[in-house]
Amino acid sequence: MTTSKLTDRFGRTVNYVRLSVTDRCDFRCVYCMAEDMTFLPRQQILSLEEIARVARTFVSLGTEKIRLTGGEPLVRRGILDLVGEIGTLGLRDFAMTTNGSQLATMADKLRRAGLKRLNISLDSLDADHFRSITRTGELKRVLEGIDAALDAGFDGIKLNTVVMKGGNDDQVPELVEFARRKGIDITFIEEMPLGEISEHDRGEVLCTSDEVRQIITKHHELLPTTEDSGGPARYYRMPDSQTRVGFISPHSHNFCSTCNRVRVTVEGRLLLCLGNEHSVDLRDVLRAYPESDEKLRDTIIGAMDLKPERHHFSSDGDVQILRFMNMTGG
Ligand code: SAM
Ligand code: SF4
Repeated sequence: MTTSKLTDRFGRTVNYVRLSVTDRCDFRCVYCMAEDMTFLPRQQILSLEEIARVARTFVSLGTEKIRLTGGEPLVRRGILDLVGEIGTLGLRDFAMTTNGSQLATMADKLRRAGLKRLNISLDSLDADHFRSITRTGELKRVLEGIDAALDAGFDGIKLNTVVMKGGNDDQVPELVEFARRKGIDITFIEEMPLGEISEHDRGEVLCTSDEVRQIITKHHELLPTTEDSGGPARYYRMPDSQTRVGFISPHSHNFCSTCNRVRVTVEGRLLLCLGNEHSVDLRDVLRAYPESDEKLRDTIIGAMDLKPERHHFSSDGDVQILRFMNMTGG
């Protein structure tokens, strides 16, 4: 039973917070960023101490799960200290989403600092193709990172794949085999219209979860489950493997009715919905009241009234939200 003090106007309890720790990244994935990005100046982003304060305050309001994301969380200097700090808050679940590029050297340290689970993004197993999707990424480093994460003994490791029709949909069977070999879960994500990108037309490349499922069922039977990881994914199992296959389908299956999440950007903007602009500035409050968290608590509780009932992504490729995903934090 949850003890969260955060409930919105639609009766949904918020007990899961995604904290973006940087807008910067060593990759430039085609669906996430433009090739040429301008990042935020240092004074506009929350310090690690401010992020830790936000985490502590959410936990005092009943938050049970925190996910660190970005940008690429592992390029933020001091990230291990922040993980160590949040690791002491007694969370039921403490996870990070990463592109895996730094895991070869950091996985073990993250685990020892108290991180419980990792989501690692992987869109292709072909090195050239991987490079063209990420623009700068080196597949070998990421694969080494995945192995280091497996060795470090996390409670859970999951792969995340954004599927683009004519882009990497041909990689789906191979990615499923890879996940089966490694004994980890994999989730396929429909691309969301966040930020204006020029590399492709989002309407044209949308590959729905139903289409991805059809690709997989040519090779493996997929049995629906009611398992819930506390996030938006719906899971399937294969009869002969422990690997679960998840689908996040913002276009084809709206998941808003069970939404238990909010996000905080690295600028300290509390976003009540991934697909809407509703937000509250926590940075002003953090800086105006450095000694006490009371005002911060009140602001977060009050913000719940702004959480919209649902998002309205359309699949015609139009940009509906101007912030890029690296600002939003996945
Ligand atoms: N850099 C880390 C990573 O790539 O895992 C964490 C941040 S990234 C923004 C979080 C997740 O969002 C990744 O799995 C990425 O593939 C996904 N993502 C980025 N842009 C997206 C978009 N437009 N639609 C759907 N998913 C997206
Ligand atoms: Fe970086 Fe992650 Fe965005 Fe790719 S998806 S550009 S790795 S923040």
